Amino acid sequence: MRRPFVGGNWKMNTDLESGTVLAQTLAAQWKQNADVCDVVLFPPFPYLQSVARAIDGSSLALGAQDVSSEVNGALTGEVSAEMLIDIGVTWVLVGHSERRHRLGEPDSLVAEKFAMAIASGLSVVLCVGETLLQRSAGNAHEIVVSQLSSAFERIPSDALERVVIAYEPVWAIGTGVAATAEDAQGAHGVIREFIGSRYDSELASGIRIVYGGSLVPGNAKTIFAAPGVDGGLLGGASLKAADFLSICSSAMIGIATGSAG
Ligand code: PEP
Repeated sequence: MRRPFVGGNWKMNTDLESGTVLAQTLAAQWKQNADVCDVVLFPPFPYLQSVARAIDGSSLALGAQDVSSEVNGALTGEVSAEMLIDIGVTWVLVGHSERRHRLGEPDSLVAEKFAMAIASGLSVVLCVGETLLQRSAGNAHEIVVSQLSSAFERIPSDALERVVIAYEPVWAIGTGVAATAEDAQGAHGVIREFIGSRYDSELASGIRIVYGGSLVPGNAKTIFAAPGVDGGLLGGASLKAADFLSICSSAMIGIATGSAG
């Protein structure tokens, strides 16, 4: 059985005090061990160290929202994998739709960041997903596969245990309109099939694929119970401790009751 994964992407929200309090609250209230469920917080860069201190000794893990594709050097504003590792970060997000669509990151840069993070020893949540236009044109699955083909070009098979794929349809992110469980199941099936053809069926059945896009306590259980959905990546709901914890609990219940997919 795949271990559930829940990530909280705080994006450009919180401040030093509220982010620290949020992390302290989650650390105090989340009692499950990391070997039964991965729960990862992705605060803004300036608060990483304070969140690291707040969750020290808990089962929560620390993630960064982005990483440079380069090792070091004259790259103003960039943050390298080594710098993140230095301060206790173990996970990074790569290819989030806001970086792809609002900040113009092409597939090629996503692939470079992914390869750098993996080569540096980090674990990665790789985000993929189609826009509404692409979905309306009937190209949703084709787009997801083309994002995956580019991203996995340089990823060795023995790194897949450090990879979670987040299916995040762009039209569902921050809109209040979540995908249906059937939509998520369909896309996750396509993603698993891709991993099977790029690597092998054993790796395909082992890799974790999570859903992201307007998850809230009221819809999480249903979506997580869909076959092949191994948890979630959350934006808005990760900023409210009670909602986030409720969704983490739903991930454990939903995945235990749903079938393997
Ligand atoms: C996200 O940005 O990854 C996300 C899923 O956001 P939200 O939960 O707010 O839709």
